[in-house]
Amino acid sequence: MIKTYREPGREIPVQDECDILIVGGGAAGHSAAVAAARAGAKNIVIMERYGYMGGDATGGYVIMVPNLSWYDKSFVRGIQEEWFTRLEKIPGAVRGPSLDKIGLTDPALIHPWKAIHDCVSRGGYGGAKPSCLVRAVYFEPNQLKIEMDKMLLEHKEAIRVQYHSWGTRPIMDGNTIKGIIYESKEGRKAIFAKIVIDATGDGDIFSQAGAPYESMADKITRACTTALVWRIGGINYDAYYEWQQAHPAEMQALRAGLQRVAGFRCIPLPSNQNDICWINNWHSNRDCTVVKDQSETEINTRNTMRDVLEYLREAVPTAFRNAYLYDIAPQLGTRCSRRLIGEYVMTPEDFAFANQHDDVIAWHSTICQINDCGPVEIPYRCILPRNVENLICPGRHLSADGIAIDWLNLIPQCVGTGQAAGVAAAVAVADSSTARSVNIRKVQDILVDQDVPLPRNAKFEAKDPSYRQCVEEHEYGLYTDKAKMAKEYLEKHGAMGADFFQGF
Ligand SMILES: Cc1cc2nc3c(=O)[nH]c(=O)nc-3n(C[C@H](O)[C@H](O)[C@H](O)COP(=O)(O)OP(=O)(O)OC[C@H]3O[C@@H](n4cnc5c(N)ncnc54)[C@H](O)[C@@H]3O)c2cc1C
Repeated sequence: MIKTYREPGREIPVQDECDILIVGGGAAGHSAAVAAARAGAKNIVIMERYGYMGGDATGGYVIMVPNLSWYDKSFVRGIQEEWFTRLEKIPGAVRGPSLDKIGLTDPALIHPWKAIHDCVSRGGYGGAKPSCLVRAVYFEPNQLKIEMDKMLLEHKEAIRVQYHSWGTRPIMDGNTIKGIIYESKEGRKAIFAKIVIDATGDGDIFSQAGAPYESMADKITRACTTALVWRIGGINYDAYYEWQQAHPAEMQALRAGLQRVAGFRCIPLPSNQNDICWINNWHSNRDCTVVKDQSETEINTRNTMRDVLEYLREAVPTAFRNAYLYDIAPQLGTRCSRRLIGEYVMTPEDFAFANQHDDVIAWHSTICQINDCGPVEIPYRCILPRNVENLICPGRHLSADGIAIDWLNLIPQCVGTGQAAGVAAAVAVADSSTARSVNIRKVQDILVDQDVPLPRNAKFEAKDPSYRQCVEEHEYGLYTDKAKMAKEYLEKHGAMGADFFQGF
């Protein structure tokens, strides 16, 4: 029996009243605010518990976005691509193949990018597909923090930013959300809103509003782990890549050695600079909403950093001889915890059968190998909760099963669903409709105006039919052996089991 304390009721001040309230300023929440303002909303509040935007992408030092393109088409555009076209003006802030080079297969062009993980497609399939350059971008997280503020300031007449404010409870009227109670150094206060966007990544709001949700992703997935990212300076990443090519057996031993020294899986990955790498890590089966798991992830990672550094210095001196601890991410790396069970739940079937959705809001190339990282349609219904009105839930807690979530909650999908949530909220407010009854055609047209490619949209088709031609010509990526196996497996078992997923 857990000991409890009855908290007395009390009057609290109403800090603000707005049309759209966004809780959480990560990739999803920030995109929602910007997109809503650009879609004409005038009265927006964005609330964030820390003092900067970006969440995992800035404070968690998750400094790369993969697979923004497929063949020669950049499927993930909109606000996600805008991050990089803006940062490209700042010397050294980003690294990755430029938009005009994606899809090129010339070995001489590809060669310099081979060291940089995911910048070159894997190719293969019996010679059906040569390797090509992929739009994958590494960025400096502190420059992105600055840029994200600037993007909000460009709409300062419409967006009010509340940093250091922690949304704690939804204010409900029956099954309709009316606002949020939050805590800050100023105490406990309320904000009322017509539409609330839960972009906390952990469903902090929908989980208390009565929306059904799942917990952790499948144990076998990347999503079912926590992390504390840190960076190492004084290295030579090119030399590390050359060493890997020359010593494949030793590379296997290095991976095992790092796991032994740290006690969990960790690996150096490239960054926007050749002399800095980030150490990505995976603490298995940890829930980033459980304080014990959060605390142990922080302590255990920090406690092994010096040993990992020493190990790398000795194992690969050509690259790590002068390596030093550059910095540690200011916040915990959170991959997945509570997952919405929305009006639609995405599953591996969406990838294996190229499912089409009338309410598609993003058509993203992803990291899924079933369809060779080809574009998949993400419907509005998977950010729309069941049972709760006027709440939209974009970002890493979107509605997907315990396996499909692994391919769907990376930064691009969080930005994409966030952008769509912002536009949907703006349309609902302007038309005096609700989040559920919003005119989805209008939302889709505005998204296309905001540089988001969408399938079967007349405006987009008139603007650029080559995206449709690309997916038709390349069979939606379903030429892989994995696609055939996944189809057979799904037809037989109904859902993808961990045994099948293990092969990815
Ligand atoms: C170590 C690691 C490596 C990864 N690698 C990659 C990769 O290589 N490429 C890739 O694309 N993706 C990667 N991902 C996934 C990706 O980073 C995240 O899924 C994505 O950034 C999540 O964006 P989000 O906006 O949905 O959530 P978050 O980034 O978690 O943002 C949520 C925001 O809400 C705030 N917040 C939370 N609760 C509250 C509250 N109650 N009140 C107020 N504010 C609140 C948080 O402070 C945060 O700013 C990785 C993730 C991790 C942890």
